[in-house]
This record gives sequence, C-alpha cells and structure tokens, in this order.
Amino acid sequence: MAMGLLQSGCSVSFARALRSRTFTTISSTVTVPSLKKASQMETRFLLGLSEEQLQQLSLDFGQKSFRGKQLYHLLYKRKVKEIQEFSQLPLEFRNDLEEAGWRVGRSPIHKAVTAADGTTKLLIKLEDNRLVETVGIPVKDNDGSSRLTACVSSQVGCPLRCSFCATGKGGFSRNLKSHEIVEQVLAIEELFKQRVTNVVFMGMGEPMLNMKEVLEAYRCLNKDILIGQRMITISTVGVPNTIKKLASYKLQSTLALSLHAPNQSLREKIVPSAKSYPLNAIMKDCRDYFLETRRRVSFEYTLLAGVNDSVKHAIELAELLHEWGRGHHVNLIPFNPIDGSEYKRPSKKSVIAFVSALESRKVTASVRQTRGLDASAACGQLRNEFQKSPLLSGSIDQESHSEVALAS
Ligand code: SF4
Repeated sequence: MAMGLLQSGCSVSFARALRSRTFTTISSTVTVPSLKKASQMETRFLLGLSEEQLQQLSLDFGQKSFRGKQLYHLLYKRKVKEIQEFSQLPLEFRNDLEEAGWRVGRSPIHKAVTAADGTTKLLIKLEDNRLVETVGIPVKDNDGSSRLTACVSSQVGCPLRCSFCATGKGGFSRNLKSHEIVEQVLAIEELFKQRVTNVVFMGMGEPMLNMKEVLEAYRCLNKDILIGQRMITISTVGVPNTIKKLASYKLQSTLALSLHAPNQSLREKIVPSAKSYPLNAIMKDCRDYFLETRRRVSFEYTLLAGVNDSVKHAIELAELLHEWGRGHHVNLIPFNPIDGSEYKRPSKKSVIAFVSALESRKVTASVRQTRGLDASAACGQLRNEFQKSPLLSGSIDQESHSEVALAS
C-alpha cells in the first residue's frame, strides 16, 4: 500500500508530508512522522493524536485543516474504527492515509468474560498478536447514578514480579503504546454501551516504567475522551525518580501507591523491586506528590493471610502514615487467590480487625469490594489462562499456539 502512494507522485503535498511534525503535549514532545519511504514505513496510529496534531496531519497530506477536525470527530466522538469507514473524508485522503501506513489503532477483542456482578474482563489482541487485559467495572450508586470504571493496562505483562500478582508471574513482553492504552477505554465503552466515567491505571504492568506513553494516553483520555483528571487514578508500586517527575505535571489525579507492607523488610518480601527503593524514600516522594498536587495519596494494601494482615501490622501502618502526614487514604484489598500462589485470602474477621485498628488511630480506610471473583478477577489472571508461558520477545509462537488451543 505504501508503494501506491510513492508511485502516485503527489508533488508539493508529498514533499511537505515527508517532514516530521513536532507537537508539545502534557508529557513531552511527540513527533508525528507523516510519510516515509516504503522501506522505512512503520504503522502509525491516529488514536491518541490531539485535534491540533490531526489538523497538521491533514495539512501534511495536502488537505484543508478542517479535515483534521473531522478526523478528530470521527475518532473521539463517533469512535469509528477503520479509516475506510471515515465516509465524510474524501476517498483519496483515506487511501493516502492508509498507503502511508496510518491506522486508527483499534484492535479486536480476543475474549471477554463477564462475572455475575457485571464486571467484565477483556483480552484485547494487539497488532503483534500479544494479548492485553482490561477490565470494566460497572457500579450503581445509592442515588441511582451509575459509574463505569475502566481498569487499564500499561504494559504487556510486567517485569516487577510482585509475589502475589498473576501478571508478574506471567512475565513481561513490552510497553504499550499510548493508543493501545486509549483503545482499552474505548473497548470498554463499546462493550457496555456506556461512557467510561473513571479510569484506573491498575491493570497489567507498572505505569511508571512506561511513563511517556502513559502520560500521552492520559492527555488523550482527559482532553479528547473528556474523562476528568479527578476521575483518573495512576497506580505505582514505586519506581525510583518517577513519582517526583509525575508530581511535576501537577495532575489533578490520585496517586495510588501499592504499599502492601508497613516496613521495608516485609515489603521487600512481597514486592521484590522494593529493594531498590527504600520505604522512607518512597514515602517522601509520595509526600511531594501530595504537596505539588494537593491530591490525596491512596495507599494500596493487599491483605495476605498470615503475612501482613495482623493488628500489629495495622498499628505499624497507622504509625507510618501519621509520621507521613495529612492527605492519605488506605485502600485494603483482601487477596484474590490465584493459581499456584503461596498466599491465601484473609478471613473476614481479620479484615475487620485490621480496619478497626486503623480507624481507631484515625486512619481512613476502605476495603475494596471483591468484584468479579468468578471471572478470573486478579490482575493478569485471565491472560495467564491463555498464555501459560512468559511473554518474552519472540514468544509469538507460544501465543499462536495458545490461540489454537483455544479454538480447538
Ligand atoms: S502488582 Fe503491578 S507492579 Fe507488581 S507485578 Fe503485578 S502488575 Fe507488576
């Protein structure tokens, strides 16, 4: 297809299109290469580009800039998935875009599993056949209004190998591109036939290991898909030098720090990557995030029976947070059992005792409602059912194999 455009010889616009354009976004500058020689051709994705970038792209293709506004409308309002379905655009422009390697950036759903409570997990099959997991969580509030939360992945797999996590056990393959994050939200909207109201970066992967793409996706979700910054939560287990950087953008979003232990030695056992980021340093960086953004920090704490769920641990956690200062909340997550895990789910009694130990020390805490337990609820679990082997580069054969197995 690329050859077709090169052979068509569209003089001035083509020469202009050979130049790359640079735009400033929330996170960094983004280069939008328009057209290249066929031998250098890479697939480019429209999803994730801003209105300004789409206008510039239209100009680069010799079109009027209002075509960029139309592109924007088609991508983010009409949510059209294929360039050839952009029927308002001239056929020539659509063909030129495709021939130059441009795609919308929407991928097929490989599998969807819905639990009795409506929580739905999707496996999205990416362009390179890798599978990424995303979850839609519908909630009816007491006042009758409804929310739809999309729990999105930022990486295919995860390199951090937290000991309780199905994703960590499944290995790491690659970072997601920004459009591959955005398309997860659109896939959830399409499935539920409802707008996504909240986004949490709590799916597969460590968002701070893929900060550039995560922030580009964040910009698009906020500015183009119109999800308020306060409705977006970014979670991290802690990667040195990233929380401060994130704070510098002064986003109005909650930082969710995956703590899981009230002291360094226990944390290292649960979260091996904690060895390179001491607890006092991570707590200080979280403090800076709060001071920069004035947004409360949510400390996530997975309760593992007999490991970190005693009243003694709760008291230690309360002391740690008092020392940390105002502006925190604790989100307790009773562990969802996963295949092959050494950990067990805590009893209701121990969860209640943990909460009261925190509350009696004036630490606000909530217990995350277990949702979709019957639909492979834990992060990374669904994908692992389809891909038993770690997703290391060159593992496409294993993936194809698992699809064959699925089909049979
Ligand atoms: S809990 Fe998060 S950071 Fe840890 S291994 Fe799982 S996906 Fe990675």
